[in-house]
Amino acid sequence: MLCGLRKQDNQKVFASFSDKIYGPFSCIGCGHDLVLKKGRIKIHHFSHKPPYKCSHGAGESEIHRKCKISIYNSLQNLPHVTNIDVEVNFGTVIADVYCLINNAPVAIEIQKSNLSVNEITQRTEAYHKLGIYVLWLGLHNDKLLEPKYSAKAWEKWCHAVYFGRVYYWKHDSIVVPVHYGDYQLYVEDSSWFDESGQEQSAGGYYKSSKRYKTPNLGRELNIAYDFKPTLKQSWRGGSVYVPQCTIFGDITRKWWV
Ligand SMILES: [Zn+2]
Repeated sequence: MLCGLRKQDNQKVFASFSDKIYGPFSCIGCGHDLVLKKGRIKIHHFSHKPPYKCSHGAGESEIHRKCKISIYNSLQNLPHVTNIDVEVNFGTVIADVYCLINNAPVAIEIQKSNLSVNEITQRTEAYHKLGIYVLWLGLHNDKLLEPKYSAKAWEKWCHAVYFGRVYYWKHDSIVVPVHYGDYQLYVEDSSWFDESGQEQSAGGYYKSSKRYKTPNLGRELNIAYDFKPTLKQSWRGGSVYVPQCTIFGDITRKWWV
């Protein structure tokens, strides 16, 4: 986590602007003591002093911290973006980045690999109750450039929530929207004789794969300019359930056919 509470005055402080002499520091989620980590290579951060039981900061990697600080830095000086902060505790949920964009309250959540669909659904519901528009982001990766992509459960969930798009963070406040198109599997031609001696044949055609998708990348979007608050109605399709939720989705037309 990037921030901790400085115990002497209960101020929330960034690890990068803190020093051990101003400690101790505690977690904004659970109140447990934190260790300040100011190395030469990694982004300065805090971590829980073991043992602890708290999910805040769990599964957070260096790229995750980089993404958070980068979004924060790129949005903070824009005139239509106000009240920006990182790691904001709303009681039921802690937002990675929170701000008002054109006065609409927005939470930006960066997907961690260990987050389940159950958790992502619960957190999205929590933001809905708070009246906050949520933008879930994945991290951009080279696998998205290949024709055969195995989308994870949370990606399929986001695809359903954001009207056929999943957003991947690239740099600063820039994200790439990705639509999952069908991946065509070839079913091999085969023939055989059945019990009555009749020749039967099957295959020799293409069918849509259930497991694989073909990523269709849209143009790069800026979180500050290309998104708007939207109410998404409750929806169920196959194994995917989406509750009614308030989301921050992009304003572009669909680019796929
Ligand atoms: Zn904690």
